[in-house]
Amino acid sequence: MNKRSKQHLAAIRISKASAKSVDELIARVRSHIKPTQEASIRERLAVMPETCRNGYLRAIIGRSPTAAIKAHCLQCVSYVRAEIRECADGACSLYPYRPFKRGQK
Ligand code: SF4
Repeated sequence: MNKRSKQHLAAIRISKASAKSVDELIARVRSHIKPTQEASIRERLAVMPETCRNGYLRAIIGRSPTAAIKAHCLQCVSYVRAEIRECADGACSLYPYRPFKRGQK
């Protein structure tokens, strides 16, 4: 198992331990989302680190395109921020906008 997989599994363990907070987060955004979105948003929240949840919710309710890009990139790299900086997929349409690349040439 590589380092990235271990970090991802650790994130899932943390998320399962705080299932109650997923309910609280869903309650906070319920008025901004369609009923058909709730189950998939709940599933997504359950597998992401707590530190990524607020940004994801800001994105999912349409408040911030920047948050949406960040949330998408984090999901793409299994929530390992350093992997975004190291992203080599220059063909991805989000590549020029990806977060966490400060200091990179
Ligand atoms: S820019 Fe890189 S990390 Fe972000 S979505 Fe595209 S491939 Fe994934």
